[in-house]
Parts: sequence; C-alpha cells; structure tokens
Amino acid sequence: MNTEEILKDIKRKIRAMVPSSIEITSIEFEAAQLVVYTSNTEELSDNRIIKELAKTFQKHIIVRPDPSILIPPEEAEREIKKIIPDELKIKNIYFDPTSGDVTIEVKEISVEAEQRDELLKEIKRSIGWIPHLIPVPPIPSATIKDILAYQRSIVEDRKQILRQIGKRIHKEVGEHEKWVRLTALGGFREVGRSCSMLSTPVSKVLIDCGMAMGESQGSPYINLPEVLPFDSLDAVVITHAHLDHSAIVPLLYKYGYKGPVYCTYPTRDLMTLLQMDYLKVAASNGSTAPYGSTEIREVIKHSIPLNYGFTTDITPDVRLTLHNAGHILGSAIAHFHIGEGLYNIVFTGDMKYEKTWLFNPTINRFPRIETLVMESTYGSHKDFQPRRRDAPGQLAEDILQGLKKKGKILIPVFAVGRSQEVMVVLEQLIRDGIIPEVPIYLDGMIWEATAIHTAYPQYLNNELKQRILYKNENPFLSPLFERVDSVEKRVEIIDSSSPAIVLATSGMLNGGPVMEYLKEWAPHPENTLIFVGYQAEGTLGKKIQQGLEEIQLGGIKRENIPIRLQVVTLDGFSGHSDRGQLMRYVEKMEPKPERIILCHGEESKCLDLASSIYRKYGIETRALMNLETIRFK
Ligand SMILES: [Zn+2]
Repeated sequence: MNTEEILKDIKRKIRAMVPSSIEITSIEFEAAQLVVYTSNTEELSDNRIIKELAKTFQKHIIVRPDPSILIPPEEAEREIKKIIPDELKIKNIYFDPTSGDVTIEVKEISVEAEQRDELLKEIKRSIGWIPHLIPVPPIPSATIKDILAYQRSIVEDRKQILRQIGKRIHKEVGEHEKWVRLTALGGFREVGRSCSMLSTPVSKVLIDCGMAMGESQGSPYINLPEVLPFDSLDAVVITHAHLDHSAIVPLLYKYGYKGPVYCTYPTRDLMTLLQMDYLKVAASNGSTAPYGSTEIREVIKHSIPLNYGFTTDITPDVRLTLHNAGHILGSAIAHFHIGEGLYNIVFTGDMKYEKTWLFNPTINRFPRIETLVMESTYGSHKDFQPRRRDAPGQLAEDILQGLKKKGKILIPVFAVGRSQEVMVVLEQLIRDGIIPEVPIYLDGMIWEATAIHTAYPQYLNNELKQRILYKNENPFLSPLFERVDSVEKRVEIIDSSSPAIVLATSGMLNGGPVMEYLKEWAPHPENTLIFVGYQAEGTLGKKIQQGLEEIQLGGIKRENIPIRLQVVTLDGFSGHSDRGQLMRYVEKMEPKPERIILCHGEESKCLDLASSIYRKYGIETRALMNLETIRFK
C-alpha cells in the first residue's frame, strides 16, 4: 500500500469507530502524527475517542477544525477580547489558518487552571479556532520572536514539509534482513565535531552534527559514501545547542538534505542563536563561514521540536524519545527504539549526573537499553570535580579577595549554560550578604541566552521552577544584572575605577567581547580572572590555565600583553559529569546495557573510562575511532 491508500484505510476505520454525528472531512500524516480534520472538533476531541484512536493506530492524534467552521480572524479577535478578562492583559493574538490554531499571548496567566480551561472552551465554541493561552516571556528574546515570526510566514511550506516527512515515516518497507549499526563520524577520541550515524536497512539517522573546537573548526566526516547523498538521510537528531554538536547542521541543507531536525524547543532556539553568532564572529574575523543565514532558516523550517518524554516515530523502524540531560537548557539524552523490540540504543550527548543550580540531574532509567553511547569529557581517573555545593563558597572567596584588592573580576563564560548558573549563584550570594552588592555586567550573547532561559521555566530544576512559576521570584530578573549593549558602555566599565564583576563571552577566550576586558585588565595584579567552564586544548583559556605569561595579539598592530592578574579555575561549575559521576551513572543504571561506547573525550580519557567501566562492572566497552562502524545486530 502507498501512503494515500494507507490514509484511506485509516479514514474508513475511524469512520467506523466514531459516532455518525461527527463529520470527518480529511486525514493527513504530519511527520509522525495523524491529523484528523472535522467540523465537530468538540465532540471528536473527547478524551475517550482520542485515546481509542491513538491506541488503535499507535499514533498521536491531532484534531483540527475543518477550515469551513473557522470564523474570519478579525471577527474572531473581537470575540476573544470579549471573552478574556482584562486583568490577563492580551499582548498579541496570532492566527494559523493551516492548523486552525490561535495563540493568545497574555501578560498575566495567574488564573486557576479550571477557569483557564473554561475560557478556552468558550473561545473554541464561539470562534471554531483552537485557542492556546501563553504568557509573554519576562525578558523579550529577539531570537524567539524572529523564529516565531518566520514560522508564521511559512505555514503552508511547513505543512507540505511535514506531510513529506509523514510519507517517508509511513512508507511500507516490506520484509527485509534486520541489522543495526553505528558509524563514528566525529567526536570519537576527541572533544568537538560530534556526529554519529545510526543505520538499518531502511533508515539513516544522524545524531548531532557539530564543529571541531579550537582553531581548525573542521566538520565531521560527513562526506562518506554511506552518508551521501544527504537527501538519503531520514532524520537528524540534535542533543543540545552547543556548536560542537550543532554548528554543521545548516551545511547539510546547503548540500541537499531536506529532512527533519528533531530537538527540544529550547535547543531549536539556542542553536539558532549560536549559529547566527558563529556567522557574525566569522565575518568579524574576516573568515568565511561555510553557510549563511538562509541555511540557518532551513534548519528552523525543518525543525520538529519535542518535549522530554514524548515518543515519536522518526523513520519506518526507529522511534525516538528525548530525556533531560542536565547539561544546558533543553539538552537531551536520545533514546532510540529500533524495530519492534529489535534493539535499543541511548546517546547521552553531554550530560550532568548531579543536580545543578539550573537543572535536574540527567536520568539513567530506560524501559530497555542494549547499547549506551556515553560522553567522557572528564573520563580520566584524575578528573574529579569539587562538590557542587562547595562551588559558591569558593567563588565567593575569590571574589572577596579580588574586591579587597580593589580589582575587577572577569569571568569568561559560554553564553549558554554556565553564564546563567553563575548568575543564579551570584544573585544568591549577594542576597545572603556573603558578597557585597556590586554591579554584575553581562557582555556578549549572555543577555539574549538568558532571555531564552526565562521563556522555558519548565526546563529548569524543580526549585527554580517553583520559585519562578509560583513565587514570582525570578533570579534572572534581578536589578543587579546589567546588560552591556554598546561599545561605549564597555569602555566605560573597562576604564572605571569602581568594583565590578563581568561575565563575558567567549568562554575559552578564543575571541568575543571578553578579549577587550582581558587586554586591559590582564597586566594588573589586583584583577582576577575566574574560569568556570571547560577549556579545550589549543585555546587561549587553556594556555593561560597552564601558566602562559604573555598574550600575543596579531593583526596590523602586534601587541604583547603581560598576564599579571590572578588566575583561578573553579571546577565545581562544570556542566559535564566528572569521573565519579560518570562511573556512578553506569553503576546506578537500570537496566544495565550490554555494551558501552565512549566518546566526546580526549583519547586517553575515553580509553581510561572504557577500561575502568569494564573492570569494575564487567560491561563490554569500546572507545571507537572516527570512521569506525560497529554492528549491533
Ligand atoms: Zn555541550
């Protein structure tokens, strides 16, 4: 049967299952979901019917109003304004005629759940459209605004794309031999350019597609005969937004990939922010990026965001579920279920097996798992980090010492992840009176990345979520934080004699606004430089940690800047699991995998962790090399 025939068959079955008073106008696949159009949305949306349909067809069912029952948007808008109480303060109303959804953005959402459901029901009854009530994020994010505006401008295209993806997922594959294999394309025995391909006789799925760190900025080995042509790939899954996992995705579209990118909502937004910034940095360095903003838009156009715990078919024989990885906002562990019970493989991506100030610890319980592909950034037996609860105390001590010397405190950070964690800790230290109230300046993309964090409070750890959603205590909104939004402001901070803490990008001192502060402050011993994140081999950050005494800056005007400021490294803020956490992750895992593949670590760390896991737990381990393929079934 082809997809048309499959849909016809489904329609016939649905017709037989639902009461004859409900009119079914059409049925489509949109990616893995089954979309049912009807003139009686209320009756068909009945939970019992939906559950039965979902169970029968093993699909998520979406009920949409037939376009004929939608009243015109202008009229609908008037009705919505009549029904929504004034105290909710409507900010925007967006209609999506292809889905029949209307999104109502409000300033205040503090109505009881019951009252909210009643309001939504009343709106639906009166206008036919399906209403969604969402709060305006407290800090407006330009990235999210652009992404949503772009998606509203391409609704028809997107529908076509989702239908194409749906056809591919639901194609009939017939009888065939069964095997499963994994090809290491990048990020094996190294940190950077993470990329793997999972393949079966009918599916090819890429997991992550990042760029090398340090100066080379190379791609993974994607130009292999078994990967090409890119159009033959069924899906791309991105575990998290960091560029060593996501920077090369736009390039796939430049060379012919037309399929979906699965990731969480925050990953979609943060990845866009980081990719756009990568283009900006490349342009300012005078180097050429391999793609432009057109390709970044293609990624947005083809993205299928998923929430944690939501299971979806992504090819005829692969089912994907994303779970919290505890590393950065939206970071995910990807669980793949292959065939009907044939094989289960889990990719940790970057993960943190400890509760942090921002996130819950990652999870290590799955319904089934045969192979685990695990990161090894801190995999050596020497890689122990201090306890996280000791980190604020150490940070406070270093800041107090620096301030006593009347110096400045410079903290290089990744815009995404460590910045927000350090912000939460600093706000707490000042609120508790442990460090004095000094202005905290945020330079680079930190502000925008923080805005994206405030849009997704449900992705933060339980306490932070409680504080933000129910106690109206959002640490990110503290007046202590000041945004550096112009060169003048930056110069003013650099030249000022008052104490200040500056959080600036990039986190490894390979460019970005942090360099401006470093150049001016490095020669003065009263200043302090505090590293809170991972420093890759070859970066200036790593060299300074190793005792570099002078920074040589190239360009027309060559400059040698002596490093005389205090240099401190705090390991307690890492977004990666340390050696103990990696070992415990395996120890507490349920069920135990048959095999563990180590990646995302320098060679010695992958090998060290592989042999330790084997010796301690008797589980088969492998530290694959890039370009190797391993067969599982
Ligand atoms: Zn990462």
